[in-house]
Amino acid sequence: MLPLQIHLTLPPWIEDVADASRRYVTDEERVGLAIELSRHNIQYGSGGPFGAAVFDEHGRLISAAANRVVAQTCSVAHAEMLAYMVAQQRLASYRLNEQGGHYTLATSAQPCCQCYGATVWAGIDTLLIGARAEDVEELTEFDEGPLPADWPGELERRGISVRRDILREQARAVLAAYGATGESY
Ligand SMILES: [Zn+2]
Repeated sequence: MLPLQIHLTLPPWIEDVADASRRYVTDEERVGLAIELSRHNIQYGSGGPFGAAVFDEHGRLISAAANRVVAQTCSVAHAEMLAYMVAQQRLASYRLNEQGGHYTLATSAQPCCQCYGATVWAGIDTLLIGARAEDVEELTEFDEGPLPADWPGELERRGISVRRDILREQARAVLAAYGATGESY
């Protein structure tokens, strides 16, 4: 019999790090949370050094996620993918901004080619990024995959504004800590 359902989980510590009762107003607060999620993920060994979160226009937290590829035996279980999936389920909308509103994804590192593709369809209006792809490839062994040469422009043309290098050094520090372990998880 073939399975008809998949099940993905996030680690329970997410709720200790991500505060659903507060407003994350600035870009730095939002990426700061994504980096905090990435830091906890390697501290608890629950996944790779990546975190992401979705916010509405008021800074309310819609979803918070971390990389779960190894833990969930699932190559798509990147932080950004899980943040989109949880937010879409929560809002009951396969495009987050379909019913209006303004949604932001904050991620600890530049989306890989998979998460970049997902970003085109997820229904966000703003993408906030910590570390660059070259930081990921310099400090860890991950391959970020091919992207269009003008990847920010392709998003901008689809109504998604992009802001990069937010708290980049903090994001790099987590990648470096992970890379120094020499492990993959
Ligand atoms: Zn990814």
